[in-house]
Amino acid sequence: MVKPRTNDAAVEAFCPKTRLRFLYADVSATARRLAKAHGDSPAAAAILGKVLAGTAAATIDFNEPGERLVVAANVKGPLGGWRAEISGEGFLTGSLQEHDPESLRNAGDGADEWCGPGAAAKATRLREDGTIRSQVSFECKGGAPESVYAALFCSAVPTRLRLVCTMFDGEIDRARALALQLVHEGSRRAFKRVEKLFDDGTVADTLAFDATLPTLREILGVEDLVTGPTRAIAFGCTCSEKRFLDAYAALPRETLEGMLRPLRPREERCHLCGRRYTITPEQLVQVLQSKTETK
Ligand SMILES: [Zn+2]
Repeated sequence: MVKPRTNDAAVEAFCPKTRLRFLYADVSATARRLAKAHGDSPAAAAILGKVLAGTAAATIDFNEPGERLVVAANVKGPLGGWRAEISGEGFLTGSLQEHDPESLRNAGDGADEWCGPGAAAKATRLREDGTIRSQVSFECKGGAPESVYAALFCSAVPTRLRLVCTMFDGEIDRARALALQLVHEGSRRAFKRVEKLFDDGTVADTLAFDATLPTLREILGVEDLVTGPTRAIAFGCTCSEKRFLDAYAALPRETLEGMLRPLRPREERCHLCGRRYTITPEQLVQVLQSKTETK
């Protein structure tokens, strides 16, 4: 996959003196593109932007080539949940479930109302060959993306997290994440001081406008903040025509024959990225034939 050039990136930052660790992600362009592809309403897009920012920030520790992270959440609110996927190369995709669009229309604009009072989530790290490297399942209070990703980070080390998604003209403007972590031998005092800025809205305000390194140093009061390598992030989905054909091949013979009967091309849509695929009756016949041959 060729990565289109945007400013989307995930980066780790560190204070050598206090050993505070920060994770920062900006996924604005990718989130804007995905929300458009899914036809998300502004309220839904604002939730998707946060989901994607949180997912991107969670991959900063990836070190194996070909590694992937899948975060799937079921929330108690009318939204239903979401699924997001990112590769170690920085290809990001994801979508909301929007189970019940009718009740969503009446649910107001807030993520809290859409997501409800809690969530059950699962984060899976996969190797290149698709085998599971590690998996955490957890339940959390509050179904909004910020609660879910904070719980995910806190399952490893104490973390404060802010996810921000601002809208402009009905489109995503900025989708960003900043996490503060207390790693081994980090200063608790410094953590407590910076933590307050996560709680009082300072960090959220900064992320919504200017999140450059000099600004973050000043706002957070961490003059010695230095950044590590930056991982470029871009939209990228692992879906393909072959994936759909492989999925067809796994279906029972009778189901496939039933699908073939109208003799019309079938429209398939990737639920993660919204891309459409047309599968022709000839391709279906081929799938059926290869099924017979392998028997
Ligand atoms: Zn896709």
